Amino acid sequence: MTPLEFDARHLWHPYTNVLDPGAMHLISETTGVWLIRDDGTRMIDAMSSWWCTVHGHRHPAIIAAMQAQLAQMPHVMFGGLTHEPAIALGRRLIGFLPTGLDRIFFSDSGSVAIEVALKMAVQYQIAMGRAERTEFATIRGGYHGDTWKAMSVCDPVNGMHGLFRGALSIQHFLPRPPIPFGGDWTEDAADNGLGALERLLAAKGARIAAVILEPVVQGAGGMYFYHPAWLRGARALCDAHGVLLILDEIATGFGRTGEMFAMDHAGVEPDILCLGKALTGGHITLAATIATEPVARGIGESEAGVLMHGPTYMANPLACAAGVASLDQLARGDWRNAVARIADQLWQQLGPARRLPGVADVRVLGAIGVIEMKDRVDPAIAHRRAPETGVWLRPFGRNIYCMPPYIICPDELSRVTAAMTDLAGGAR
Ligand SMILES: *Cc1c(COP(=O)(O)O)cnc(C)c1O
Repeated sequence: MTPLEFDARHLWHPYTNVLDPGAMHLISETTGVWLIRDDGTRMIDAMSSWWCTVHGHRHPAIIAAMQAQLAQMPHVMFGGLTHEPAIALGRRLIGFLPTGLDRIFFSDSGSVAIEVALKMAVQYQIAMGRAERTEFATIRGGYHGDTWKAMSVCDPVNGMHGLFRGALSIQHFLPRPPIPFGGDWTEDAADNGLGALERLLAAKGARIAAVILEPVVQGAGGMYFYHPAWLRGARALCDAHGVLLILDEIATGFGRTGEMFAMDHAGVEPDILCLGKALTGGHITLAATIATEPVARGIGESEAGVLMHGPTYMANPLACAAGVASLDQLARGDWRNAVARIADQLWQQLGPARRLPGVADVRVLGAIGVIEMKDRVDPAIAHRRAPETGVWLRPFGRNIYCMPPYIICPDELSRVTAAMTDLAGGAR
């Protein structure tokens, strides 16, 4: 069996038919924006390997930090023990975050960070004497991960509610905010979508522990960008009803939308924040759930006293060292101009795709470019074309999209937008 035959016969891939996985590229090396196949073919990673590699693959400073950490201490348990990489990463995160968000729980992946956030919310409500608040509310079109409870707050239609009907706890779903990013905001609650949240919290707030949202940018659930004023309104309504606000910045954090965090577009601060994906610059898995002092204090002073969670590889030193080096790159500040430049070029070069017959909409925010089609796009077509166009794209649903590494140069980005437009022109 060749390596690819072995792969097809034995290895599951994400959201891929195990019996018919389709064409698979064997990647043997990465560098900067490039994925290099075993036969030497090079493809630009226009997906940043799913929102992660913001500084490009194999960034020298991150690799050096990881190698130094590897030589000293790849791992140690976090129960009763601590270490410099976790402390250094904590210090840097607090430096980037709004004051008040400063109680950090490290875990291994985004979905786990969401599980931890949901658990924190319930434990906090129990601590406040509101044990009946066990449910969650969110908006349609969201995506918060693939684990059991995270799945229950993903979009009920394009998420997994159909398949797992009966097995998932039913949460409360509101229409997605109707006014898009850049649209004209109206204070009329019937038109701006906040009326629905107000009614839900008035009627059922006493059973709801938290509202969970992707701030401003909904990622894998539909690549939709909504008006930041909606988020400000949601924050006020949560406060009025004793409901916590959890913001999921796993995809949007670390500059992707043009601000360090997407919540910065709205000037809103959550009670609990989830980070992941680009936290290590895409070099190794790591996530964090960060609570405010009142949430942490509530749980700490409760009868249970402890947050009931503790991953085996919690705050893995190798991952924390990568995180420190990645945040140090961001601290230099070059990302802001780079993302603005990418946004300009995406607007210029993707805009004309609006005129293609199969295209429903073109959207850009920061270093995220989306061509939304009228019909579903077959990702297999993009996969097949990639070696020839030299651009790695993985369309999802009706969206052909890119979120390239911030280091991508204009020529490389032109290749990405050309490949996207080409796919939009012939992918129907
Ligand atoms: C990817 C993602 C998650 C889940 O993260 P994993 O590391 O894949 O578990 C959660 N929320 C959002 C917004 C994401 O984009």
